[in-house]
Amino acid sequence: GAGLEGRLVCVAGLGVSGPPVARALLARGARVVVVDGRDDDTVRPVAAELADAGAEVVLGGTPLPEGCDLVVTSPGWRPDSPLLVRAAEAGTEVIGDVELAWRLKPADQVWLAITGTNGKTTTVRMLEAMLRADGRDALAVGNVGTPIVDAVLPDADGHVHDVLAVELSSFQLHWSSSVRPHAATVLNVAPDHLDWHGGLDPYARAKGRVFAPGTIRVANTADAWSVRLAEEDGDPYAPLVGFRLDTPRAGELGVVEDLLVDRAFCADPGSSAEELATLADVRPAAPHNVANALAAAALARSIGVAPASVRAGLAAFRPEPHRIAHVASVGGVDYVDDSKATNPHAAAASLGAYASVVWVAGGLLKGAAVDDLVAAAAGRLRGAVLIGADRARLREALAEHAPAVPVVEVEGPAPDAPEGHTVMDAVVAEAAAMAREGDTVLLAPAAASMDMFTNYPERGRLFSEAVNRLP
Ligand code: ADP
Repeated sequence: GAGLEGRLVCVAGLGVSGPPVARALLARGARVVVVDGRDDDTVRPVAAELADAGAEVVLGGTPLPEGCDLVVTSPGWRPDSPLLVRAAEAGTEVIGDVELAWRLKPADQVWLAITGTNGKTTTVRMLEAMLRADGRDALAVGNVGTPIVDAVLPDADGHVHDVLAVELSSFQLHWSSSVRPHAATVLNVAPDHLDWHGGLDPYARAKGRVFAPGTIRVANTADAWSVRLAEEDGDPYAPLVGFRLDTPRAGELGVVEDLLVDRAFCADPGSSAEELATLADVRPAAPHNVANALAAAALARSIGVAPASVRAGLAAFRPEPHRIAHVASVGGVDYVDDSKATNPHAAAASLGAYASVVWVAGGLLKGAAVDDLVAAAAGRLRGAVLIGADRARLREALAEHAPAVPVVEVEGPAPDAPEGHTVMDAVVAEAAAMAREGDTVLLAPAAASMDMFTNYPERGRLFSEAVNRLP
């Protein structure tokens, strides 16, 4: 399949995408060399497995294998990594896992694609729920769940899904060239991963590749980049469908009073609007999440999903953990875990959903500025508890834009902390001391977690555990 029989293909990186990519290539009769610069316990077990399956494995270095004519790279590898530079010099094609999946998929499998700085996973899951409520054989693929290359090959019974709801990162899009979704959206663009892409413009343009020739363009009218990419990078002959949080124009989805309505894919877009769902069907109830629901609805409607199925899908949707998850109410204070808010744009969305907040923030800012975020949130802040490597930047922004807001910094667990307590017990204790009845203590760090935690789920879990230990 896809002309892979007997070809020598290099799989660069044994991270999340590498192992399933290697297995898919072997299953299609390719000869596979897997390469990873690491040589330790994080890669050895899976390397041994792939060697058993017939791959050649190179650990502890990243040479470009002799005679290889295709490299499938881990999306996280930067274009200036030595192996990819050598491949470029040798004229060897480099693609990512998504491009490979596109080349392997059956012709009649439909892809509906979602990218953006924030909201991808939520929107992909909402879309999957809507498609299933409509009786479609659909699967969500992306960061959470099934690797994309596994969703395009027949399973043991020879079965392949009809429709994929595909979450795409800017990295994956960078390494894709021929992917042509049926319909696609860029939910929003805000600074993130600028160190990798080398600036906001290349980062945004990588996302714009989701609008391929013939792809129905779904754009967020409130986000200038989303509209611009749909208009400038998309196919001008493909339909352009906007979504907005207020009254939709013809050709858009939007909100009228408490209803989500469709004036794009309804029978008579000129005069009427089709009711899809109510605001109460959207959980968690926050404006940014209504935008996610409208984006998912537009993609679902682009392949004829019924209005009732949009609503049934939203009703069936369960939010993923660590995304504005209510942990507990203690003494009239709500504790909310939005550990997945790993950049300022995401934190702004959740801060905007609460009237009076004790904000738990900090970590690795990845080069992002926080002044706009802090200035916008200033009026809602009861206090702030700062953690992590880049907390000084947050402290300075708070001093400038919210000088009356009390700020405490927590460096680590309390010295006299009982066994089993973590830094989050100290954080939660400080936050609880600041909060008054009716407030929300919100973990929305605006930053990555790796300076103090393994990842954002661990950060959220330790926060929840500490809240549940509160007296
Ligand atoms: P992604 O997969 O793009 O990281 P998620 O659905 O996991 O997106 O949500 C990540 C975080 O971004 C959430 O914790 C929430 O705070 C925030 N968020 C979700 N949707 C939006 C949106 N449409 N606009 C801004 N922030 C959002």
